[in-house]
Amino acid sequence: MAFTPKTRKYLVAFLIIGWLFTLIYSFLRHPPQYPPQVKKLYRDNRVLMGTFWEVTSPDKEAAGIVFAETSRLEQLLSKYIPDSEISRLNKAGKLKVSPDTFYIIKKSRELCSATGGAFDITVAPLVDLWGFTDRKFRVPEAAEIREVLTRVGSDKIILHENDNVVEFKIPGMKIDLGGIAKGYALDCAVKKLKAKNIRSCLINAGGQVYALGDKFGQSWKVAVQGARKAEITGALELKNQSASTSGDYQQYFLIGNKRYCHIIDPATGYPAQAGIASVTVISGSGTEADAFSTAVFVLGKEKAKTLARKFNNLEIKITE
Ligand code: ADP
Ligand code: MG
Repeated sequence: MAFTPKTRKYLVAFLIIGWLFTLIYSFLRHPPQYPPQVKKLYRDNRVLMGTFWEVTSPDKEAAGIVFAETSRLEQLLSKYIPDSEISRLNKAGKLKVSPDTFYIIKKSRELCSATGGAFDITVAPLVDLWGFTDRKFRVPEAAEIREVLTRVGSDKIILHENDNVVEFKIPGMKIDLGGIAKGYALDCAVKKLKAKNIRSCLINAGGQVYALGDKFGQSWKVAVQGARKAEITGALELKNQSASTSGDYQQYFLIGNKRYCHIIDPATGYPAQAGIASVTVISGSGTEADAFSTAVFVLGKEKAKTLARKFNNLEIKITE
């Protein structure tokens, strides 16, 4: 098609004006930022509380803050550290403890009643009996289990609120915070990050993550490991939330085809057998996500539904 020189001039002018309008419009909608935003993430990792911790954040200081806080709590709460407060309390049966230790024991006792006894930190002697502490796995005699069960039950923990003293009612009682300490450490680390005005950070602590804020305006995306397989089966989008997974695929032993896992049903004294291969609990609280994922593993799918109705801030995903 041929244009006259005049029409061609109009057409060019029209195109240039259109292009200029588009340019001005997009400039007004997305003005350039000075200095230009560099979307850089810092990543660092460390082994703490017996697992691999990885911290990702646009803030360089984040990882150091998370590791320092987790390490401080590990020194108080780990049963594997001989002079931790938990080790000393387990040995003496009565101890004046720090506010952190007192708080988490009290919270654990509350979560024990909230889960109908499924989450119970006094399972420690049973965890030992089945060989999960020293990794010398064995199937105990029924009589041994019955004897140890007399020393299990969070109602046998006395909390002296006025002076932070924790006391066991029965000699030989012990506590194990393996099902809650990681979640509590995540909450404490996030508090420290917020105090330093850090608003964006993803902490991955083995089977549990906490996503603080977002990643450059988008939710943090977290891969979920499939039960019993080393493959990734799903992805979660999290924002100011924690996701904790409990399963029988990480710490267990097999005798024949029978699988004995490290989560013990406090009601029977035997490893939990509720037909769940893995459960992920999502909550705004790392402490609660951790304890509830352990509890759901003990309770099974049906009772988990009742729990989810009672605590409507929990999201529970089960793989059978
Ligand atoms: P992980 O350690 O893989 O994060 P969990 O959060 O489910 O898994 O915690 C399991 C740990 O909790 C066990 O290793 C043991 O120390 C402790 N534990 C086992 N059974 C119970 C229970 N019924 N209630 C509370 N803690 C438990
Ligand atoms: Mg747990």
